[in-house]
Amino acid sequence: MSSPFSLHGRRAVVTGANTGIGQGIAVALAAAGAEVLAMGRSSMADTLARIEAAGGTAREVTADLSPPMAAAEVIGRLWDEVGPLDILVNNAGIIRRADAVDFTEADWDAVMDLNLKSAFFAAQALARHALAAERPAKIINVASLLSFQGGIRVASYTASKSGLAGLTRLLACEWAARGINVNAIAPGYVETNNTEALRKDAERASDILKRIPAGRWARPEDMGGAAVFLASNAADYVNGIVLPVDGGWLAR
Ligand code: NAD
Repeated sequence: MSSPFSLHGRRAVVTGANTGIGQGIAVALAAAGAEVLAMGRSSMADTLARIEAAGGTAREVTADLSPPMAAAEVIGRLWDEVGPLDILVNNAGIIRRADAVDFTEADWDAVMDLNLKSAFFAAQALARHALAAERPAKIINVASLLSFQGGIRVASYTASKSGLAGLTRLLACEWAARGINVNAIAPGYVETNNTEALRKDAERASDILKRIPAGRWARPEDMGGAAVFLASNAADYVNGIVLPVDGGWLAR
């Protein structure tokens, strides 16, 4: 009997898969059987090696996703040249830190363009092709605890991730009856480049750790199981959720 969590025969695009959460998700999807298209602007060599070592299949797709239509264009090209895409993980994201009174327009635009605008048009591109081909699809957005909370010193990041949660619900409502599931994962505090500055600030790092019921920061691979679930048939009736994978942070 095949497992409802199996991703055999599925093709998955994971953006920003060279490191961190994107890498953790890419490896987990590949281990569940998906062919992974690891998309981003940096070399995917490490991710491809990890997937190969786990017996999975992956290829690298080079793209700078900051221009908001770039991901959409690449998705269209991949669909035509490689074949239908079943899963999209909108993971690539950046953060800029400054007090709100000092926040610059450049730091606002850079974060919103990649984290929100590019993610929307990537989802739209996948949906256009999937709907036209009458194929089901799964879209997973990587949201944040700052989809639920305010945070400090990260105005554009909080705006982008709160926006992404709203967009996840809107797209789920529009596409649920047409075979496209749109959901999000909200990682807690994960040991990646994104949180390097926080982890170097001894006081903030210790305050954060004290509040995590699980008693440790997350590792990128902690996000894999939720991604496999939301990408699989096991989640066929799951639409528009933002699933915290946070060691209990929001339960506190
Ligand atoms: P990371 O910095 O390791 O990963 C970010 C990824 O985005 C990298 O692969 C990077 O190459 C890619 N990227 C950045 N700019 C790009 C561009 N212009 N074009 C293509 N790719 C680009 O950090 P991470 O923590 O793994 O972040 C991954 C996602 O998880 C982000 O959306 C982030 O907001 C989110 N997130 C992280 C945490 C955390 O605690 N680390 C918590 C919640 C959400």
